[in-house]
This record gives sequence, C-alpha cells and structure tokens, in this order.
Amino acid sequence: MPGFELFSDLERKEVNDVLDNGVLMRYGFDGMRKGHWKAKELEAELEKTFDSEYVQLVSSGTAAVSVALASAGVGAGDEVIMPTFTFVASFEAIMMLGAIPVLVDIDDTLTLDPKAVEASISPKTKAVMVVQMCGSMANMDALRTICDSHNLIFVEDACQAIGGTYKGKPLGSIADLGCFSFDFVKTITCGEGGAVVTNNRDYYINADHYSDHGHDHIGNDRGTESHPFLGYNFRISELNAAVGLAQVRRLPEFIGIQKRNYTIIRDSLSKIPEVTFRTVPIGGEESYAFLNFFLPDAEFAQKVSTAFKENGVDVCWNYYQNNWHYIRKWDHLKDLKSLFPISKEVKEGLKYLQTKKFEQSDYYISRNISCLIKMSWTEEEVKSRSEKMLKCIKKIINE
Ligand SMILES: *Cc1c(COP(=O)(O)O)cnc(C)c1O
Repeated sequence: MPGFELFSDLERKEVNDVLDNGVLMRYGFDGMRKGHWKAKELEAELEKTFDSEYVQLVSSGTAAVSVALASAGVGAGDEVIMPTFTFVASFEAIMMLGAIPVLVDIDDTLTLDPKAVEASISPKTKAVMVVQMCGSMANMDALRTICDSHNLIFVEDACQAIGGTYKGKPLGSIADLGCFSFDFVKTITCGEGGAVVTNNRDYYINADHYSDHGHDHIGNDRGTESHPFLGYNFRISELNAAVGLAQVRRLPEFIGIQKRNYTIIRDSLSKIPEVTFRTVPIGGEESYAFLNFFLPDAEFAQKVSTAFKENGVDVCWNYYQNNWHYIRKWDHLKDLKSLFPISKEVKEGLKYLQTKKFEQSDYYISRNISCLIKMSWTEEEVKSRSEKMLKCIKKIINE
C-alpha cells in the first residue's frame, strides 16, 4: 500500500517548486507564489481521479471525517453509525463534534453489515459512516437504500481503499461525502493530509470554510474576508500538497503493481481449501492494497499469524489482537478516558459499550489474516513470500 516506497524525482520537483518561491501556505500570497498553487492543483487532480464535482483538501484523514460530518450538520448528541472494525480515527472524528459513535457489526466483507446498520437506527441517528477497510468495500447499494429510506447522511471513509471501485465508480465518491487520508502509510501519501469529496455544493462550501477558520475565501485579501460561521484550522500545507500532486498522478501505476503482487499471493493461497477470501460485493473491484483471508477458526488463525512471524512473512496481521483497528482493545473508548470532561449526552450515549457484544464481528475478525501488499516487492520476492505462506499454512493443517 504505501506510496512512500516509490518516491521519485516527480515528488522532488513538485516540492522544489514550492521551496523555490517560499510560499508554504495554500491561501493568499498571490504575488509571491509565482503561479504555484499546489493544493488547488491537487484538488483539481483529485476531482478527476475520484470523478467528483468537489474536493476539499485538509490536514489529515481524521480531519476529513470531522470536516465531512460538520459540513453536513452533524453535531452534539447526533448518533453516527460506524463499524467495529476500522481505525480509531472513526470514533475520534465523530466525538470531536460532540456526536455519539454507534458501533455495529461487520460481515464477511469486513465492512458494515447492512442488517446490523438497519437494526441500530434510532430517532437520534443522523448519519451512517461506512469504512472501506483494507482495500475493499461494503454493499453500497444496500447501505444507500437504508440511508435514503431513513433520511440519513451517508459518509464513506475510503482512506484504505484509494483506487478501488464499485459498479464503475471510485470508492470515496459513492456516498454523500467521501473521506481520504494521504498519511505516510496510505497508497498515495503526502506525509500528512486528507480530502473531503462530494457532489453536493453546499457541503463543499461548508468544508472549504470550516477547514479554514470560517474564511469565505472571497477576494484575494485574507484579512478582509468575512466568516459566515465558526470554523477551525484543518488546512493542508503547500509542501504536503506538492508531494500528493506527484503521487496522485501515479495512482494507476501504483494500483497496477498492487494488483500484480496481490494476484500472485491470492492464486497461491487459493490452492488450500481451508483458506477462504473476504466477500467483495457484486460490481466491486478492490484496490489490492491488502489481501484478506479467513481460516477455519480463531485458533488456526492465531497459529498462522505466529508461523508467519517466525518465518519472516511480515506485514500480515490478525486484527483480533490489534490495539488500533478493532473494538476488542479499545478500552480507552469503553472507559471514556478523556483529558477533558465529556458531555452528559455522549457519556449516556456510549454506555452501551459496557455490555454490548459483537459476536458476529468477533467471528470474522478472529479468523481473518490481513496482509499488506507492498509496491516495492519484486515479482521474485512476492513468489517466494507466497511459497512461504503456503508452507506455513499447510504445516498447521497437517499438525
Ligand atoms: C488512516 C485512516 C484514517 C485517518 O487518517 P489520518 O490521515 O492518519 O488521520 C481514517 N480512517 C481509516 C480507515 C484509515 O485507515
């Protein structure tokens, strides 16, 4: 997945453009910047890549989620449905707005189970946030139907699925608002950065203003711009945007490499009947940033995970044991360990986490192994890696 593996002169050139004129800020300084507007250029490039009307760059993927929700009017006391398997950023971004994350089960796609979503809707539900985990996606048609019939805002976190598609549409462009991260380990990186993607002009204008202290961005004198509403600072810098600009132009090349490497490993593991793969919804094509597979039970998956480590097969994880991506180890959320007081509403709203069981999520996550697909591997390296993986799994079958 990580785009940093393939940094080249293209990234260097874009960064040097910025350093040569010295304007590191994305707004203002029109005379000094000699025509270089890296953030604006990157937004235009992303609009093409994600086949969307509007893109607002921000400082991170986490910021993108907060800005997307704020732009659609989600705030204090509103419930936002999200999956049990995601990155901690999902609930952080929701709680930053005083809203309440409502965690629900995933299914064999490793993303939101539409049935679990429907069962969790309450009068307070304002939005559903799907997270397209590990390069693949949820059943977007089913989720769209649910959102439409309950009049809910549909948000799509595609941070881990840059370049994947559903029924011909880029992931991140399908819901009402899409969120991307370009942090250091994502398929295209700019160090730190993110984007909000939408076809809704009002949401876009809100995102544009909100991510820059409420500035209306009218005219070319920041000091005299007005502030139609309260905002915050989630700006990206020109240096980060410059790296992203070079990287996004290389996305088709990156996806091609990921697909080659993914396919070699998948073909090899397909020879073992005990190995099954995550379900990709009809019409979906993964970004090939990860290969995810299931083993018959949790103990088996644990053994495979250990055998991989002992035999030098790195960047493969069993997320059941992971601190950052699965509800099981999010005690800081369950116990609400906050540096500052949390509102009564949110405290009340999160009480369910003390008792709620996520047996369906446990069933899938405990049996899953998720392997990162690197771009810097040579074909030979991928082949020898897949041989090693095959050997490890067969050995455990024969024990
Ligand atoms: C990386 C990631 C984020 C957060 O992105 P940052 O840029 O690191 O803040 C959010 N959601 C998912 C699914 C991610 O993988």
